[in-house]
Amino acid sequence: MAEREIHDVVIVGAGPAALSAAIYTTREDIDTVIYEKGVIGGLAAVTDWVDNYPGFAQGVAGMELAESLQKQAERFGTDIRLGEVLSIHDEGELKRLETTDGEVYARTILITTGSDYKKLGIPGESEYYARGVHYCATCDGAFYRDKRVVVVGGGNSAVQEAMFLTKFVSHIDLLVRSDKFRASEILQEELKKHTDKITVHFNTTTDEIIGENGKVTKVVGTDKKTNKKVEFPTDGVFVFIGLKPNTQFLKDSDVLLDEIGMVITNAYLETNVKGVFAAGDVRSGATMQIASATGEGATAALMIRKYLEPHHM
Ligand SMILES: Cc1cc2nc3c(=O)[nH]c(=O)nc-3n(C[C@H](O)[C@H](O)[C@H](O)COP(=O)(O)OP(=O)(O)OC[C@H]3O[C@@H](n4cnc5c(N)ncnc54)[C@H](O)[C@@H]3O)c2cc1C
Repeated sequence: MAEREIHDVVIVGAGPAALSAAIYTTREDIDTVIYEKGVIGGLAAVTDWVDNYPGFAQGVAGMELAESLQKQAERFGTDIRLGEVLSIHDEGELKRLETTDGEVYARTILITTGSDYKKLGIPGESEYYARGVHYCATCDGAFYRDKRVVVVGGGNSAVQEAMFLTKFVSHIDLLVRSDKFRASEILQEELKKHTDKITVHFNTTTDEIIGENGKVTKVVGTDKKTNKKVEFPTDGVFVFIGLKPNTQFLKDSDVLLDEIGMVITNAYLETNVKGVFAAGDVRSGATMQIASATGEGATAALMIRKYLEPHHM
């Protein structure tokens, strides 16, 4: 029988949470492998400019931050592999991971696969991604001081984020596809306090995002009642139509997920499966920020060290 490949920690995903965890584990000689199916650095690497990550007084390009985290993790010996983890299996002391490169075993697993924001899938959305089309008000709202924006969505997050954006912007057109909100009654009541800045357009689809000279200038939609096209001049678009946690690979595992598929952990970032931890945007209750992801990565690494001590070190 071929010898099994066994590591102290296998980290799934190579975003900021993973790379921060790996800096801590490898620096303490905990043998660590990361699998990444897309871009090393995760969503941070595809973020144009990060203005709110502590320690960078003038802000930092997302790619630069990601590369720096990668280099720091590799300096201490992190083995970063390009490949997808397809499933995980709890076999007691050891966990088995099926990857696109074959099978690997780990004493602990750290799940840091993040969450994708659901997209509208309309013309202009990918063209202006992160340069006029946004999915996080905390991240990008401050870029729109005294400007007009369009917010798309009718659920809790759309209403909450639209109200948050009123701190910065001069006006918001809130486009809701159906004839009413899905947001809670309480939030709908709160929203009524913002009629000076927010105009709600029910029965309005969002069909196309149009720009000029690399900048978003308007959103074209359809008024479903009249079936006529409607245009909303704008400087930016914020889309809040839901989250898609990257947890499909856990569907046959015992790891508990919440109602939208995010990983449930305790205060020590451990899941219900002993030796399996989660950190960052994939975790139920995550605040979806790079600073929180790196902080949780560090915490998870320290919890993993504690878990490994009596077991194997
Ligand atoms: C456009 C945009 C702008 C943003 N701006 C800011 C900002 O200004 N400030 C801020 O603090 N935050 C910002 N964010 C949010 C921030 O990027 C995330 O909170 C942060 O990247 C989360 O880190 P993470 O490590 O948890 O997950 P991610 O960064 O999402 O990394 C997860 C990684 O796991 C990989 N993966 C998923 N499934 C698998 C699998 N089965 N096998 C292997 N790999 C897998 C993914 O490919 C991905 O690379 C922004 C996000 C976006 C989309």
